[in-house]
Amino acid sequence: MVKIGVLGLQGAVREHIRSIEESGAEAIVVKKAEQLEELDGLILPGGESTTMRRLVDLYGFMEPLRAFGRQGKPMFGTCAGLIMLANNIVGYDEPHIGLMDITVERNSFGRQKESFEADLPIKGIADSYTAVFIRAPHIVSVGEETEILAEYDGRIVAARDKNLLACSFHPELTDDHSITRYFVQMAEQAKLAHV
Ligand code: GLN
Repeated sequence: MVKIGVLGLQGAVREHIRSIEESGAEAIVVKKAEQLEELDGLILPGGESTTMRRLVDLYGFMEPLRAFGRQGKPMFGTCAGLIMLANNIVGYDEPHIGLMDITVERNSFGRQKESFEADLPIKGIADSYTAVFIRAPHIVSVGEETEILAEYDGRIVAARDKNLLACSFHPELTDDHSITRYFVQMAEQAKLAHV
């Protein structure tokens, strides 16, 4: 069984833990950088990216997180976690963790649509998936190596760049664990390949 961590500094942590367990993996809440060493994959949850960034710096997570991803270990950013992973954020001079070759824009679906659900297909994962968006970002553009997995309203809302997976919505808030299961499989494959 692979061990998946959820960065537990801020945001929707407990729901991800449940989703990982339902997907057949061991789940742990990560509160210290040393815990990364025992993981086969890491989820960066939704929340508030500027707050999460502040806590990542405060608790000495930044370099260990970058090293984790550069090593080829799978990381999955959801909503604010997607913003944390992106190497370019519209309107910002610097990214946060900045490992994934995508450009993101924060709060892109307008105030009247602060939170909503939409059914959409996710390439290689689900024909119809109910995605929950909460003050969601979207992916403006992707790099050459990044595969677009889902779009909503003409905007990219899920993508994969090698060991890095990201989506604009909250996969932990429904009982459909297909995306978490997909991420668990990424971690299983990485473990088999001795990443
Ligand atoms: N709007 C938040 C941000 O910019 C993300 C919202 C979320 O994670 N649900 O960080």
